[in-house]
Amino acid sequence: MGLVGLRLYFRTTGHGMVHCYRCGGDRPYRRCTGRRWFQVLWIPVIPLERIAEHVQCRICRTTYRLEVLSIPTSAAMQAALPAGALAAVTIMLRAGDAASPAARGRAIDVVQAAGLTGYDDAALTADLAAAPGRDAATAASLATLAIQLTMPAPEWFLADAVRVGLADGRLSDSERSAARLIAGHLGLSAERAHGVIAMTEESAAAG
Ligand SMILES: [Zn+2]
Repeated sequence: MGLVGLRLYFRTTGHGMVHCYRCGGDRPYRRCTGRRWFQVLWIPVIPLERIAEHVQCRICRTTYRLEVLSIPTSAAMQAALPAGALAAVTIMLRAGDAASPAARGRAIDVVQAAGLTGYDDAALTADLAAAPGRDAATAASLATLAIQLTMPAPEWFLADAVRVGLADGRLSDSERSAARLIAGHLGLSAERAHGVIAMTEESAAAG
């Protein structure tokens, strides 16, 4: 740098844990804001434009927009996936035949695959008896999950729930509306949901 030049100065405004895509995991971050200064003889004399507040991974130094903080960390995601899976399968079972062994078996598979490896039929019975399917907690757990699922994961997640409904035969009208409800909570458009439901029905019929 010469006698006159430009220099960036940063001020830390916060820190915490973020999911860093570059590192591929949860990492400490610092949140900072900055300003470019015009300097003479290494002394900043004129403040120039502000640098937008941003988030920087402290490990790889990649910078992100603040929106990255709205994406849950892997740790938060591990907790939300089983809750979301449970919410989706209980909505679907209540909409159809909750006594069907085939549908219950598929529902247990989905919940176990989501991380609750000890989940069994007794636990499912308790969850089905616990609360109505369209309550705020269900919506919240699916909405939390939706933030974390990246394309095409919401589609696969919806397909899993639809297979629960298909396990004992064709989707009934109420199972179909349950699938649309789940899709809506996951942030899928009606058109997208229709495509996924149709694709899952076709693949179930073929298999
Ligand atoms: Zn990183």
